[in-house]
Amino acid sequence: MRNPDNTPEPLFEVAEFGSFELFSPHVDATVWFFKDLLGMVETERSGDSVFLRGWEDPYKHTLKITERDTAGMGYAGWRTTSKQALERRVRAIEQTGLGRGWVEGECGVGAAYEFALPDGAVQRLNWEVDYYEPPEQAQSRLLNRVQRRPLTGVPIKAIDHLNLMAGDVTANKEFCAEVLGFRLSEHIVMSDDVEAGAWMRLQTRSHDVAFTKDATGVGGRLHHVAFLYGNSQHLNDACDVLTDHGLELEAGPAHHGISQAEFLYVFEPGGNRIELVGQLGYQVHDPSFEPITWKQDTLDNAIIWYGAPLPAEFDTYGTPNVLPTAYRTPNGYIAAEMRAIHGV
Ligand code: FE
Repeated sequence: MRNPDNTPEPLFEVAEFGSFELFSPHVDATVWFFKDLLGMVETERSGDSVFLRGWEDPYKHTLKITERDTAGMGYAGWRTTSKQALERRVRAIEQTGLGRGWVEGECGVGAAYEFALPDGAVQRLNWEVDYYEPPEQAQSRLLNRVQRRPLTGVPIKAIDHLNLMAGDVTANKEFCAEVLGFRLSEHIVMSDDVEAGAWMRLQTRSHDVAFTKDATGVGGRLHHVAFLYGNSQHLNDACDVLTDHGLELEAGPAHHGISQAEFLYVFEPGGNRIELVGQLGYQVHDPSFEPITWKQDTLDNAIIWYGAPLPAEFDTYGTPNVLPTAYRTPNGYIAAEMRAIHGV
């Protein structure tokens, strides 16, 4: 028997990754990337920000793109399982000293409580939302579909997960487990017992957030935010369209060992790394699922199950970028050329 008596009572008070703010120094080009190439639907503009959603995202927005001098993330928003759960999590966060207070709602996301993870990456929790109501011409005949599939680009379905570069993976993992109720699905433990990565879930998806060791030591940076296709062919179609429009693909399509998901990494014109997920990885339904530990001697299969290896800057490039400018920056000449060609 696998110790079911020792399985801790789950803390099911945070439900899902619901919204994400991305900073871009080239906001028009970034919006073009998400709308024209990835088929996201614009729902609102306000100040320096544009709000978008995938065609299967039920809410009024899941992605907020905001103009800033430097690429990176504003915040990651998480929706709780109830109003009461939100109140309880806010009290728990306040006890850690990492709370930052309530912020006003925006574009269909109600008032949210803002806080920082131990590495400083800003997060929000909210309960209230507005659901997306498509205009008549976008309504689907399929009653359980939020809207018709868009006819633009290769449209992603929905926001999927977040990967943050951590100076201290363990500190962020423990905060997410103890304060927010994330459960560990898989992690990498190096020979000196230091955790180099942790993949954590809220419900059945293999992971909603991942922390990977920031090889520069900075931490609190965006490694990537991921969007779901759920279909291998769509990744190939996306590669074709993205390449033909001058976007820089970093790696994939290939399969990770951890999570078993099929991936493609591309740099959007603002310089942020975006992951597109083809075939989804495994789902966890086992309530006493034990985390998988990958050690140094199994790392090759953990990172890449099959496909070409990841480039060296995968461990060091994140946003904001801290690499020397002489280094090949992913939003270097190719993205500049692309912007010149397409006038965005
Ligand atoms: Fe990922």
